[in-house]
Amino acid sequence: MGEKTDVVVIGGGYAGVMAANRLMKREDVAVTLINPRPVFVPRLRLHQLVGATHDAVVDYTDVLAEGVRLVLDSATRIDAAERRVLLAEAGSTGYDHLVYAVGSGDPVPRVPGAAEFAYPVATLEAAQRLREALFDAPAPAAVTVVGGGPSGIETAAELAEQGREVTLVCGGDLGPYLHPKARRTARKYLARLGVDLVEGPGSAVVEVRRDAVRLADGRTLSSQITIWAAGFGVPDLAARSGLRTDSAGRLLTDETLTSIDDERIVAAGDCSAPSDLPFRMSAYAAGCLGAHAADTVLQRIAGQRPAPVDLAFPAMCISFGRNAGIFQLGRKDDTALPLYFPGFAGKKLKEAACEASVKHLVTEAREPGAHHWPKDGKHRSALLAARHDRRAPIA
Ligand SMILES: Cc1cc2nc3c(=O)[nH]c(=O)nc-3n(C[C@H](O)[C@H](O)[C@H](O)COP(=O)(O)OP(=O)(O)OC[C@H]3O[C@@H](n4cnc5c(N)ncnc54)[C@H](O)[C@@H]3O)c2cc1C
Repeated sequence: MGEKTDVVVIGGGYAGVMAANRLMKREDVAVTLINPRPVFVPRLRLHQLVGATHDAVVDYTDVLAEGVRLVLDSATRIDAAERRVLLAEAGSTGYDHLVYAVGSGDPVPRVPGAAEFAYPVATLEAAQRLREALFDAPAPAAVTVVGGGPSGIETAAELAEQGREVTLVCGGDLGPYLHPKARRTARKYLARLGVDLVEGPGSAVVEVRRDAVRLADGRTLSSQITIWAAGFGVPDLAARSGLRTDSAGRLLTDETLTSIDDERIVAAGDCSAPSDLPFRMSAYAAGCLGAHAADTVLQRIAGQRPAPVDLAFPAMCISFGRNAGIFQLGRKDDTALPLYFPGFAGKKLKEAACEASVKHLVTEAREPGAHHWPKDGKHRSALLAARHDRRAPIA
């Protein structure tokens, strides 16, 4: 038997695990997964970790295909010319192909005082720190959640359900993705849980202090614990390695998910920006992109031309504590329809989606190549064509 092709996957989240498992389709491929923690983190449960209703960890032995070599370390630089990944602890490792799947994490807030006084929630360690801080704070302590998107809403709801005094500061609209009808339902659920909602253009936080937040409209809200849930940040590994990224730091790729700088590097999940038109950051997209990235590598190894990525978003879902949810149906181009499942049905569907995000990894581990996802077919190519036309020089 000849030498194996070495594929290194950086990042053991939804995208990296899916890619690593799928790559096991070929027996002549050796797959190494680099991740700093010995456990898989289903990040979509981190608000539950904060609210103490889930521990948000899964053993890698449950989700990773047998035969994938797990290296507990952090990549510090990619040397594309030498085809090596430099590691924080244990030297470096060489590759024939590389999957870049470092995901996202806590943003670096530019608002004065936020980095110093606000607790982020987007990584396991951050969520654990926040949980400890809440544990030490008396129950009536004022808690302010900054961010009106899904993770802010879910964190606020989870804590209010635990009896906390929560204010959700949206910095704009509540749940910008939601259809207006679903948004009204969201307001109702938050009110029922006792969450004070601060919405609208004046609600942007302009300063975080030790015991308060200041808003753009001049109001100051007392806050013993401030939680920063206003978006995710992306690791700067690609940029640090001299690879081109978008303005947020996501690796720029073509539609096959191949780096525009290096055919040996593909990207998937929250850290990827295909055609500078990234998909919505989500566990759902990360799994699908991880599978597609693996297919691109496998096609290259087989001497075939990789296919462009095709992915439709059927829905977006938000939990409101443990008893209600909104399952917002979407169009294939990832915009909201006027249709959604509220209440108990919404909660059940949201829970099913959370479970499915891990089940897909388990299935792929047992049967590499099994993961299929809904395809879009036309919207993305139309979007790309429209952008191309806009950028075309005027004759
Ligand atoms: C509170 C909360 C609620 C959410 N709810 C939902 C939801 O309902 N639905 C949904 O679809 N999405 C949800 N998300 C978003 C979702 O979790 C992310 O979009 C998803 O985790 C992205 O997957 P990924 O594989 O790209 O990256 P990640 O899951 O972030 O995994 C990346 C991995 O790479 C590792 N890594 C990073 N840098 C390095 C390095 N230098 N070397 C080695 N390893 C590295 C990280 O430690 C991590 O293990 C939620 C997120 C949060 C925080």
